[in-house]
Amino acid sequence: MSAIYDYLEQNKDRIKEDLLELVKAESPSHRKEKVDNCGNILKEIFQNRLNGNWKLENFNRELTGDHFLFTLEEPSPKPRILFLSHFDTVWEVGALPIIEKGDDIYGPGVFDMKAGLLSSIWAVRSLQQQMEELPFSPVYLFTADEEIGSKTSRSVIEEAAKTCDAVFVMEPPVSESFALKTERKGVGRYTLEVKGVSSHAGNHHEDGVSAIYELAQQIITLEELTNYNKGTTVNVGVIKGGTSSNVVSASAVAEIDFRVTSTDEADKLIEVLENLHPLHPDAELSITGELNRPPMEKSQGSDQLYQKAKLVGKRLGFDIQEAKAGGGSDGNFTAALGIPTLDGLGIPGDGPHAIHEHIHFDRFSERCALVAELCLEIGKN
Ligand SMILES: [Zn+2]
Repeated sequence: MSAIYDYLEQNKDRIKEDLLELVKAESPSHRKEKVDNCGNILKEIFQNRLNGNWKLENFNRELTGDHFLFTLEEPSPKPRILFLSHFDTVWEVGALPIIEKGDDIYGPGVFDMKAGLLSSIWAVRSLQQQMEELPFSPVYLFTADEEIGSKTSRSVIEEAAKTCDAVFVMEPPVSESFALKTERKGVGRYTLEVKGVSSHAGNHHEDGVSAIYELAQQIITLEELTNYNKGTTVNVGVIKGGTSSNVVSASAVAEIDFRVTSTDEADKLIEVLENLHPLHPDAELSITGELNRPPMEKSQGSDQLYQKAKLVGKRLGFDIQEAKAGGGSDGNFTAALGIPTLDGLGIPGDGPHAIHEHIHFDRFSERCALVAELCLEIGKN
């Protein structure tokens, strides 16, 4: 395939050791001390594997793990590539065993996305072993709260991306096709609270204003905003309300998730959500929330990146495809800033956020080589 691929294949055992070390350092987003421990191990692996004068910047956070950024002091300007990864996972400690089965490795966060983030390190290492000076400047941002919405890392991601020419999001590729993700939906999260008037369900039913009845009707309005042709979905995923079956409910709450493919569509939905009116004159509605991630729409720059990846893949002997994803990632933020972004560059596998989460470790080298060769391609310009 290529000298880089061969180098990676020769180092498979060390790569696997690094990967298992990272996966064993379980890092559920809400457990700061666990996430920080994983972050420290990641820093150590990074510094052991990569040469050069790396500047490390820490972004300390109280409630989530700390984020950190590695940059190289470069004497002359070169195209800057941001490797964007998160090392928090959705798994509580001990929830998922780590198992090797044939060529596959199962474990918490192995697919989403510890294998992917490790491959960004080994991609640059393999290049450093082959050449004196890299034709591009790698920038690494590792964040600790992606799985809970990236609230404490968003500004760091945006600031780092603004200094770069391209963003490689090391998230997992699409399952089965292993396609890269060139479009992602935007994600909105809202909470609708309804206030009614409680009363005795037997003696004074007519005096009450049922918050649950009001909410039930609002839910129908909301869910009917779903339009599969446009790629728009509205999902009321959680409802709560009332105190007892013999009391007309005074309060009810719904949690809403919406997904859109364009900013226009997001604006339209937000307009509807923020202008909901109660159907009962004595019920009160209050809605809070926001567009948590803007849609990742395909720009010309991102398409050019994808075309380059396709070309490099062909050279390496395999076919690279692209796909749209319904889930958001931190790539949504960088793409919305207009910075060419390619997502899903992680390692082939399956089962993100599912109990069968695993990677095909035998595909590590080819995917990692793709990332390395793509960096060289960008460095040429
Ligand atoms: Zn992820």
